[in-house]
Amino acid sequence: MPAQLIHESFLIAKVAMERANRILFTTHERTDGDDLGSVLALALHAMKSGKDVTVAITGGVPQQLRYLAKSEIVVEDIQSNEHYDLLVISGCSVLDRVNNPNIANLNVPSINIDHHPDNSMFGTVNVVDADKSAVAELVYDFFKFSGWEIDAEIANCLLTGIVTDTGVFMHSNTKASTLFAAAELMQKGARVATVAKHTYQGKDVPSLKAWGKALENAQYDPEKKLVFSVITDDEFEDLDKLPVTAFEGVVENLNKVPEAKFAMFIKQDNGRIKGSLRGDPHKGVDVKEVAKTLGGGGHKWAAGFSMVGKLAKNSQGKWEIVKS
Ligand code: 5GP
Ligand code: MN
Repeated sequence: MPAQLIHESFLIAKVAMERANRILFTTHERTDGDDLGSVLALALHAMKSGKDVTVAITGGVPQQLRYLAKSEIVVEDIQSNEHYDLLVISGCSVLDRVNNPNIANLNVPSINIDHHPDNSMFGTVNVVDADKSAVAELVYDFFKFSGWEIDAEIANCLLTGIVTDTGVFMHSNTKASTLFAAAELMQKGARVATVAKHTYQGKDVPSLKAWGKALENAQYDPEKKLVFSVITDDEFEDLDKLPVTAFEGVVENLNKVPEAKFAMFIKQDNGRIKGSLRGDPHKGVDVKEVAKTLGGGGHKWAAGFSMVGKLAKNSQGKWEIVKS
């Protein structure tokens, strides 16, 4: 979206948030640091302004993100007859990703705030900028535009979004403006080291072992120039008991192989399979397009998909996705 349009959408979103009394905030199922950090920053501001705030996220908040202020108020669902003046959705290219019919069927004005290039512009107001490293960087711009105070708790939420979506400033989406935003958030009291400790560095021993298995299973397909790995629930009797974040970072490691054009990690997950793909600008494969062929989406260099099905080896010993 051109800068002029983004500023116009900021203005409409600011007025909508200031006028509303009862605001519902949400993001996608299996939320992550960016989308949760973004909605909590906005929810914290709304609470400070005396609004009646609900934050509902399908699947709740993963353990390692519970250090974020007010993450304890997050509920998993809403009552179908509940009334809200405004719905704010972060990080969802389509409303379906919220995976909650009670929210999808609400008939209220909505603010759709996101940085996915394939956002379907489903909101009443669409604040969408695919040039931003993270939704949190866009929310930071929105706070600056609106003249709203960024206190230490809000700064921590926004820095969490930026740190997680840039892979601690290592991904190609990190720009000078990203670092300026992060620097100001640190001045307001947030700490990169604290965010990294909670998100990237915190792994228990079972998670480290699961990581080891995922790396051991890595294979290189010279035809597709793809490095991939899989984890099936047969390999881990207690795969379900691992923290949802156990495999976070695996696909970035697979993507380190220089001769590969992209990397994919697939994990079996309660009758579904969840795939993560990573590329790189110098490698040139738009992984969002690969993910789309499997019913998913995302960004050029980081994408994913989820489908009902399982992993099985074919007669040549190669892994295949068996759709249910
Ligand atoms: P991750 O591999 O970290 O789960 O996801 C990387 C990116 O891919 C996310 O930021 C999101 O944009 C996208 N993504 C992941 N899973 C899905 C999915 O099931 N559907 C769609 N449309 N996008 C996904
Ligand atoms: Mn994001």
